[in-house]
Amino acid sequence: ENGDDDVTLKILYCGVCHSDLHTLRNDWGFSFYPVVPGHEISGVVTKVGKNVTKFNIGDRVGVGVLVGSCKTCECCEQDLENYCPRIIFTYNSYNPDGTKNYGGYSDMIVVDQRYVLRFPDNLPLDAGAPLLCAGITVYSPMKYYGMTEAGKHLGVAGLGGLGHVAVKIGKAFGLKVTVISSSPQKESEAINRLGADSFLVSNDPEKMKSAIGTMDYIIDTVSAVHPLLPLLSLLKVNGKLVTVGLPNKPLELPVFPLVMGRKLIGGSDVGGMKETQEMLDFCAKHNITADIELIRIEEINTAMERLAKSDVRYRFVIDVANSLSQ
Ligand code: NAP
Ligand code: ZN
Repeated sequence: ENGDDDVTLKILYCGVCHSDLHTLRNDWGFSFYPVVPGHEISGVVTKVGKNVTKFNIGDRVGVGVLVGSCKTCECCEQDLENYCPRIIFTYNSYNPDGTKNYGGYSDMIVVDQRYVLRFPDNLPLDAGAPLLCAGITVYSPMKYYGMTEAGKHLGVAGLGGLGHVAVKIGKAFGLKVTVISSSPQKESEAINRLGADSFLVSNDPEKMKSAIGTMDYIIDTVSAVHPLLPLLSLLKVNGKLVTVGLPNKPLELPVFPLVMGRKLIGGSDVGGMKETQEMLDFCAKHNITADIELIRIEEINTAMERLAKSDVRYRFVIDVANSLSQ
């Protein structure tokens, strides 16, 4: 039911995030089955409650990783709903009344207006959908940790859904961007299609050595356990590494290079609603969208198998409306 503060969306597209795959596989140990994943949701408004002031029927909108929070804590008051201790996620989570949330691999969703985003006119609903998780997850730490100074050198570790958007956002901030990847075959696309300035293969010791101490910032989007030492070595003194990837086991922390180079390691989890809207507007202004492979829902299992093998260019998006009409 659409409550007084709620908006109902007809879902048109939904991106496929690696977090969906982690959840399906119970990688993190807190999957509550049955799960309907999907938190990069775009569509149009079909219904609004009587208190809804932000949206009208027919508006192009999106829903990302969260659909609720307490609205009164310090985090919520500072537009950091994403760090609210009572955050309600879009799927694999429960509402205060005990009902369960199901995500965007679906044809409709009902969401409190506070957690609904407006799509700028020139932002397409298909290639724009992944910005709702992948986009904000890399934009928010770049802003918070001060990684946006034009001319500085950003490394992007892992060229998948998050990584390829990080390259584009980094370029829009005027940074020099180097991709650090385990997939040598992504090099020419990274440079010619995504706009990266250079490309390092993480398991090529010679190339990695040549880049030691050259980066100001690194954003680490790798989804699996991996060594941090090679990445920390790429940083200059005072460099910052922000990890947003969520491997299923802890990473080892190499303390010596951290201490000796006054380096910083931080983390970041999506972004608040205000900042997510700011990111969508920023991407629309700079013509940033995801590079997508549009699939029908029948193809989701193959897509998940490919995602597990880092074989996606660079985000699968489900064409929900067309899947259901077939
Ligand atoms: P993705 O599209 O699968 O990209 C991850 C990339 O990591 C792969 O394309 C691959 O890039 C690299 N990689 C994968 N396995 C690797 C391995 N064993 N060794 C080295 N590199 C490897 O995933 P995504 O959707 O971008 O998500 C990335 C991670 O971020 C996931 O863990 C996800 O759960 C997490 N996440 C976090 C947040 C947050 O708020 N913090 C939000 C969304 C997602 P190369 O082929 O270039 O090596
Ligand atoms: Zn996600």
